[in-house]
Amino acid sequence: MAGATADRICERCSGRGYRVLKLKGRAATARRCECQETCTHCRGSGYVLVPAGASAVAQPCACRHLDERIGLFNAACVPATVARATFDSYKPHHPDQSAAKAAAEDFSKKFRLDRETHGILFYGPPGTGKTHLLAAVVRYLALEKGVACRYVELMLLLSDIRNGIAANRGYVDILRPLTQAPVLVIDELGKERGTDWERSMLDELISRRYNGGLTTLFATNYYREPRKLPSAEGGMVNTRRPDWGRDAEAMTLRERVGDRVFSRISEMCEFRRVEGEDFRPSVIDAWDG
Ligand SMILES: [Zn+2]
Ligand SMILES: [Zn+2]
Repeated sequence: MAGATADRICERCSGRGYRVLKLKGRAATARRCECQETCTHCRGSGYVLVPAGASAVAQPCACRHLDERIGLFNAACVPATVARATFDSYKPHHPDQSAAKAAAEDFSKKFRLDRETHGILFYGPPGTGKTHLLAAVVRYLALEKGVACRYVELMLLLSDIRNGIAANRGYVDILRPLTQAPVLVIDELGKERGTDWERSMLDELISRRYNGGLTTLFATNYYREPRKLPSAEGGMVNTRRPDWGRDAEAMTLRERVGDRVFSRISEMCEFRRVEGEDFRPSVIDAWDG
C-alpha cells in the first residue's frame, strides 16, 4: 500500500499516499503526502532493482503510478469548493441521496476504459450534493484508478469558449480536451441562458462524445419530468410548458437544453433524481483524505 510503512499506516493520508489541497479560487490540487516525500523503495529515483536470475534488473517503482495519478487529478480541474469531496464525506439525509451515492460509487468502481459505460445524470434541487458526488467520482477515477477525467461547469466553459474565440482561437481547439477525455463531468447543465449559440456549442460537445462512445456525467437543477411548484396564490400549480425565461426554474431539462441534446443525453446516461434537505452544512468539516 502506498502510504504504509513497515507496520503502521500514515494518519495524514490513511495510507493513500496523496492528499488534496483546497486553495481558494483554484482548482483542487493533489500532492504526495509527507509520508511519500521520499519513497522508501526507490529513494526518489523512480526505479527499483528486482532480482532476475543471478543478476538484477531495474524496473519502474510503484510510486511512479502515484505521481501519474496525482497528475491526472490535477488536470481534471475539480473546483476548490468540492476539493475534498469523497464518497465517505457524502452524508445522505434522504433515500434519494443514499441511492445517488451508491450509484456514483458503483459506477466508479465498475468503470473500465476498455468498454462503453453509461454515465449518470443527477437532477434535483440545489444543495442536495450533486456536485459533491461528481467531484467524488473524478477523485476516485483519477487517484484510485488512474483514469483521465475532466470536470467543467457549463457556464464557465461557455465563457472560456467566448473568450477563446475573441482571442482568435477556434472553438474546436478549445473543446478538444473535453471531447476526448475518457470521462467528462458537466456540472450546472441548463443554467446557461439557452441562446442558439450556447445550444450549438453544447450540441457540438455532446455529439462528439456520443459519437465517440465516451462516458459523460451531468448534474442539473432541471427535472426530466414537469413538476408542480407552489403558486403565488397558494396551493400547487402545474408548471408544464412555462414560457421561456419567465418561469425558468420550472422548465424541464428538455426545454432548457433542446430536444436533440436531451435525446442524446438520455441515451448516454442513467437519470437519477436527488431530492433531499440542503446538503452543504454537513460537508464543511469534511477532512481531507
Ligand atoms: Zn501519508
Ligand atoms: Zn518509489
